[in-house]
Formats: sequence, structure tokens, C-alpha cells
Amino acid sequence: MSNYDLLVIGAGSGGVAASRRAALHGANVAIVEMGRVGGTCVNRGCIPKKLFAYASHYSEDFRDAVGFGWDEAKPAFRWSKLVAAKDREIQRINQVYEGLLDQGQVTLLRARARLLDAHTVEIDGERISAEHILLATGARPFVPDIAGSDLGFTSNEAFDLRSLPNRVLVVGSGYIAIEFASIFRGLGAAVTVVHRSEAVLRGFDEDVRAFVTDELRKKDVSFRAGGRVLRLGRKGDTVLATTDNGEVLAAEGVLFAMGRTPNTEDLGLGDAGVTLDARGAVAIDADSRTSVPNIYAIGDLTQRRNLTPVAIAEGRAVADLLFGAGGRRLDYAMVPTAVFSAPAVGAVGLTEAEARAQGHEVDIYKSSFRPLRHTVSGSDERALVKLVVDAKSDRVLGAHMVGADAPEIIQSLAVALTAGATKAQFDATVALHPSAAEEFVLLRTKVKPAA
Ligand code: NDP
Repeated sequence: MSNYDLLVIGAGSGGVAASRRAALHGANVAIVEMGRVGGTCVNRGCIPKKLFAYASHYSEDFRDAVGFGWDEAKPAFRWSKLVAAKDREIQRINQVYEGLLDQGQVTLLRARARLLDAHTVEIDGERISAEHILLATGARPFVPDIAGSDLGFTSNEAFDLRSLPNRVLVVGSGYIAIEFASIFRGLGAAVTVVHRSEAVLRGFDEDVRAFVTDELRKKDVSFRAGGRVLRLGRKGDTVLATTDNGEVLAAEGVLFAMGRTPNTEDLGLGDAGVTLDARGAVAIDADSRTSVPNIYAIGDLTQRRNLTPVAIAEGRAVADLLFGAGGRRLDYAMVPTAVFSAPAVGAVGLTEAEARAQGHEVDIYKSSFRPLRHTVSGSDERALVKLVVDAKSDRVLGAHMVGADAPEIIQSLAVALTAGATKAQFDATVALHPSAAEEFVLLRTKVKPAA
């Protein structure tokens, strides 16, 4: 007889959600974790990132306040105080997570786990057997193999730097790069982003990519498109980055934000017969089952959509499939997403290019505007809203926004898009005035297709 019905490896958001749901169904569940409970999102990702994003926004708020009659203020910022506040909050969440596991009757094993075969896991030299195993070990930042790479840091270290660098060089232009560019800039650092592609934020709508770049430029974030960093060197406290177009960029901090690598090593995947796909992620089917029928994998380890709520939904679906009434598969097409830059980006559904590539005849509605707040604040920040609509069915296929509160607004619009809302239903929705969100129900003029 097995020790457990389900053994989960990795207590990040996905693993914890899966283990609790399985235990709720009556399964005997253990979860193995060698680090802090909560995984990337709680300890090194979403949570500290959002706290730092809040912190960085105050510099603009202090400036904007002057337009509204407040005396000019130049409050000093203390990096060490922010780091300490972040540590306290993470510690609180760690305890909440541990409490949830405890109350949920999930056994937490603090150790490193390694598969010996399809049903046996070695934990601290002990053999533990399980009917089913769920792999949820996540991913880690990719560090390029260049000379001097140890002079750079990744998002793992960024929240615990000893001080705020005066100048930051960000390598890459995905979620992490753009979020940290905004954070460091807002906190007062000079920021340069070096990226190999022509446009930032691959995967987002082209209008959004261009718009957010322009907005960040207005805030003096500088971009070096089509460039790669070849090597890093040190000169005193300064790191010198040599790029492939011959430039040498000086900074006190270099952040590698070049994607994340699934944590597949030292897990004994080969011994158990679990195979990887071409990208080095654990290969899974639509039910998150690996090449071994009783072993499942979820979250960043599988590189589907590397987002916390996705890992949670995947984990719960596995638990429901194994011990409940059967899992409902996640609709990846309607997963909302946000980049917590300043201004922020939010998106749900298809981009214009994706809609066209899928054969839709599309109507495009978009508007860019100066938010009411900035008519008085004096800031030249603008916002963009865009709808991608299927011309035949009138169904809204995608909603995209750049601007303050875009993540909050897009979360609500995700309900409408998931429910299959049409453009006519958007038009029939009464505006909430004055708000930026109302722009989505006031879009009446189709953008003329490019000639
Ligand atoms: P992304 O996949 O978003 O972006 C990777 C970046 O690195 C791209 O700009 C890419 O360039 C560049 N890159 C990759 N390989 C190389 C290379 N060899 N040389 C030069 N540039 C390279 O990864 P992130 O690390 O930013 O984030 C990882 C994932 O974590 C995200 O995709 C997202 O799923 C998740 N995440 C979500 C957040 C949120 O929900 N707000 C926040 C942070 C992370 P190119 O564009 O040319 O491919």
C-alpha cells in the first residue's frame, strides 16, 4: 500500500492549490518543498513585484500632486526600508500558506524530493510511495552564458539588492524586463533596456507594444532595440556591458530578464520515465498527464502560460480529475494577463495579429486619450484601449489596454469576453463616468484597415 494517494513536489501556488483540493476530496496528500512555501509568486515574483511597483509609483504621485494644489515635496526614499517591509509581508504570506496546508490536512515535508520510479520518491534518504505524483517545481531565471555573467543579477536577487543602483541595465524585454524597468525608473534609477527584438513584450498586441514603449520613453527609460549583450566587465563599482553593436553601457546593476528555465534537473525524471518536450519543459497532455500515466505536471514546469492563476487552475483540475467529479479543462484562450509597468498593460483574448492569423475577419476599435487626472496633474501620460472584434459574429475576441488600472479593468472585461460578449453588448452597456474603463463601451468608430 502507498504512503500517500497524492504526493506533490513543489509548494508554489500550483502545488499548494492542487494538494488542498485533493485533500478536500478526501485524498491522503503530502507536499514536498525544500524552500519557502509559496514558490516564485509569493517569494520572488508577483507579490514582491507588486509591492515594489506600488513603491515606485509614489514618485509620480508626488509630482502629480503639485498640479492639484499640493506643495512640491521631495520625500527621500529608503531602499532598505522597502526591502524590510517586503520581507515582513512575504513572511506573513508564508505563514498563511503553511496554515492553509495544515488546516487542509496536507502533510508538508520539508526536503528535496527525487523520483526513483513511477511510484517511489526519495525524500531525505527515505523512500516514500504514492499512488499519484504531481510535479510542480516551477522555473528559474535564465542566465546567459556570457563572460562576466556573474556580475549581473536576476529577478531572484532583484528584491534583495543591498542598495538601489543609480543606473540599471535591463537585458530582455518581456514581462520581467518591462516591469523592472518601470520599478527602477520610478524609484529614481536611470534605466536602459537592451533587447534583441525590434519591439518589446513579444506576444502582446502590436499597438500595445509600441504604445507602452513610447510611454516609457517619455519617462526617460531608454531602449536599445535589436541589441545583445556580449559580455560584462567591472570597473570599480560600475559594470560595463558590451553590446553587439559596439556600444559599452555602464551601470551599477545589470538585470537579466531573458525568460525562465523549467526546473527539471535532479528530480529523477529519467528514472521514472518522464519525458521532456523540445523546449525542455515536462511534456504533458491536455489533462496535465506526463508520459508516465500516474505522474502529472503543472505550472511553469510545463511552460504553457507561466502565470500563477493558470498553475492554480491546472493543479485543481488534476486534483478534480483524480479524486473528484472530473476536471474541467482550462480555457487558455481567455486567460487575462497584465504587465505591472507604469503605465500598466492589460490584455485578454486575441491580439489583432492572432485574430487575423486564425482566419477571422476583424473590426478594430481603438482610442488613445489623456486620462482626466493628467489634464490637471501636468503629466503627459496617455492611455490606449483597443477591441478586436469578429466582423461576422460581432463577438469581441480581444481587449487590450495600456494605462493606469489596466490590470483591474481587464480582469472585469475578461468576464465579458469569457461569456462571449458581442460588440453590440459592449455598446449597450452604460458608461461609468468619469473613468478610463468607460472608453471600452464608448468605442464607436472602426479603425480603417491599412491600405
Ligand atoms: P519573457 O518570456 O516574457 O521574455 C523573455 C525576454 O528575453 C524576451 O524579451 C526575449 O526576447 C528575451 N530573450 C530570451 N532569450 C534571449 C537570448 N538568448 N538573447 C537575448 N534575449 C533573449 O520572460 P520573462 O523572463 O520576462 O518572464 C518569464 C515569464 O514569467 C513570462 O513570460 C510570464 O509568463 C511570467 N511573468 C508574468 C508576470 C505577470 O503576470 N505580470 C510578471 C513576470 C513574469 P524576444 O522578445 O526577442 O523573444
